[in-house]
Amino acid sequence: MPHTETEQLLIGASMDDYPLTLTSIVERAERFHSDREVVSLRPSGTITRTALGACAGRARRLAGALAALGVREGDRVATLMWNQSEHLELYFAVPAMGAVIHTLNPRLFSDELAFIVDDAQDTVIVVDESLLEVFDAFRAGHDFAHVIVVTHTGDVPAGLLDYETLIADGEPMQWPALDERQAAAMCYTSGTTGRPKGVTYSHRALVLHSLVAALPDQLAVSARDTILPVVPMFHANAWGLPYAAALAGASLVLPGPRLDPHSVLGLLADERVTMTAGVPTVWMGMLAALDAEPDRWDLSTLDRLVVGGAAVPRSMLEGFDRHGLTVVQAWGMTETAPLGTVCRLPGSLDESEADEQYRYRTRQGVATPFFDIRARDDDGRLIAWDDAAMGELEVRGPWVAARYHRGKGTDSFTADGWFKTGDVVRIDGRGCIRICDRSKDLVKSGGEWISSVDLENHLMSHPAVAQAAVIAVPDDRWGERPLAVVALRAGAETTPDQLREHLGQEFAKWQLPDRIEFVTAIPCTATGKFKKTALRNQFTSA
Ligand code: AMP
Repeated sequence: MPHTETEQLLIGASMDDYPLTLTSIVERAERFHSDREVVSLRPSGTITRTALGACAGRARRLAGALAALGVREGDRVATLMWNQSEHLELYFAVPAMGAVIHTLNPRLFSDELAFIVDDAQDTVIVVDESLLEVFDAFRAGHDFAHVIVVTHTGDVPAGLLDYETLIADGEPMQWPALDERQAAAMCYTSGTTGRPKGVTYSHRALVLHSLVAALPDQLAVSARDTILPVVPMFHANAWGLPYAAALAGASLVLPGPRLDPHSVLGLLADERVTMTAGVPTVWMGMLAALDAEPDRWDLSTLDRLVVGGAAVPRSMLEGFDRHGLTVVQAWGMTETAPLGTVCRLPGSLDESEADEQYRYRTRQGVATPFFDIRARDDDGRLIAWDDAAMGELEVRGPWVAARYHRGKGTDSFTADGWFKTGDVVRIDGRGCIRICDRSKDLVKSGGEWISSVDLENHLMSHPAVAQAAVIAVPDDRWGERPLAVVALRAGAETTPDQLREHLGQEFAKWQLPDRIEFVTAIPCTATGKFKKTALRNQFTSA
């Protein structure tokens, strides 16, 4: 029934419609946490120190300079940078001025990067000088209005703008009022088949993500923390840690590209880090170094290692437990900003046998607040939360993508607006998920994706090959590696090395299958697809 204006005033909520924008987080960092340290380990090995307040102040000048170069609200500003204080300044400046920070993964192939910057229509790019070679390999693919370089040596190549000069000359910006639904950041996912797809995060999404990430049973970020994100700032907002740190007032230690175990362990000890985060492969190396020299680094302040991006093996949990260090597993995706689930041992298991505790901790965890989950089996039915039924995980929430950039990949979304993750899970009675399989045709090796479909297609272009299917097999060092199952044409002959050489024309060395198994025929489903579950059962244990 329609209400009169007076009635509406009586029944409506009387709260202010305060916008949830990153500007509030940047201003908070400047006003309340200005003394919190931001430490950068430079590619050269030197350490520089600044503070959240100084970064926020420089962000105002940077925004003034970008505006003077013509950057307007909604424009995409690309970054090709490591975890460094300048990247944090861009994390602050670009969204607060109403533009969109688009972080680029320098590990992608140059043709992928060329595709991505063009698809996003980036106007300006900021490049760390150590990545100029990567930039040169794809810059011809897109016409940037301006290229800005961050140098630590002071040598600015001709035709490029100097980041420090821009900041020195920039007029400090008074942040404009923004709508919380405006785009703030952008990242491309390569975790899909076909071309990478863009995900655009709103201010509201990143603010709510930061708030929830900071909760005690989630990543528990507080003003007493010193956080070292090993996870790169070019991947899924570095799991939201830079903004969560700025919101809570935690100090940041940014390791740049020096991610070898000794450099990271040295930083963790010297900077008295309390929390760190990254993919399992990084921690494997760290664990081996710690096992070799258990007393070399004083990690007594380190309270938790958040590990995600790929499954955490039990051996890693046990390994760090031996050193008195707690690993907390989390699951997320580029499309989910990324935090979706966190695995914290429930109090009810405190007194349980170690075996039961480890079984729980190898799971991907329970959904964060405001993150809805459900899973659907092959027949399209929602599965029971009985830890037996398996189905594809579907999710929704204020920081989950509702679409991809330019409306691509519509088949990743259900008719009622949930995002289909491509991860196959079991869910227990507590709502704790366990990833058992993946319905997307991808292999995740050392945190980077390899497309099994691309490998299969190229294998099948070899004259001796009739059929080829590529599956992911568990690997102690890399998490997963590709394994190819090949059926040869009648009378044809070839060797694994010859097939790898054939693949080597198209793929990088780290993407080539280590194992190539020959079979007479590849089992197929009723619809004629390779039955990868059968292949996994046959070859994973072998
Ligand atoms: P990306 O968008 O590149 O960050 O990749 C997201 C994908 O990584 C997910 O859909 C999963 O397949 C995988 N992933 C992320 N976290 C975990 C985890 N804790 N355990 C297993 N797989 C994970």
